[in-house]
Amino acid sequence: MSEKLERTFVAIKPDAVNRGLIGEIITRFEKRGFKIIGMKLLKPTKEIAAKHYEEHYGKPFYESLINFITEGPIVALAIEGINVIDIARKMMGSTNPQEALPGTIRFDFAQIKECNVIHGSDSPESAEREISIYFKPEELFEAKKTPEDYFVEKYGHIE
Ligand code: UDP
Ligand code: MG
Repeated sequence: MSEKLERTFVAIKPDAVNRGLIGEIITRFEKRGFKIIGMKLLKPTKEIAAKHYEEHYGKPFYESLINFITEGPIVALAIEGINVIDIARKMMGSTNPQEALPGTIRFDFAQIKECNVIHGSDSPESAEREISIYFKPEELFEAKKTPEDYFVEKYGHIE
């Protein structure tokens, strides 16, 4: 597997904000070495929520998902790191917490898929699209280099 420096969009959902899990969840990403390059607490409007979840329009859970997410507040995060799109999804675990592996965020903090505490982009295209829904370019910040960045720079295997 090659190392690619990527950005992803993560949202800490209203259930997790309400339960006081913001710090716990952000800490997991920071401990991994990922960098928070954008962060805001907000209540998504219907329009923003609809854009975010447009792929699910018409599905049986769509209305309740939009109602839930627009209750807010959520923490919107843009996170940078090596292969962060896939790795963040692995850290989150399966959509249904009942199927998530122990040690994943959804296993450790959630019980049902309707309240599964976190969202993460599922592909480079979604990541770019979702970051641009929640952040203006000037709301994103340059990450300082991590030890891993120096390693891949020195040994040359970063794309
Ligand atoms: N969801 C739901 N019921 C379902 C499937 C999904 O309530 O049967 C919710 C769930 O909170 C999930 C979100 O809709 O996180 C988006 O679904 P997706 O399949 O994209 O899952 P994710 O990418 O969040 O794992
Ligand atoms: Mg999804």
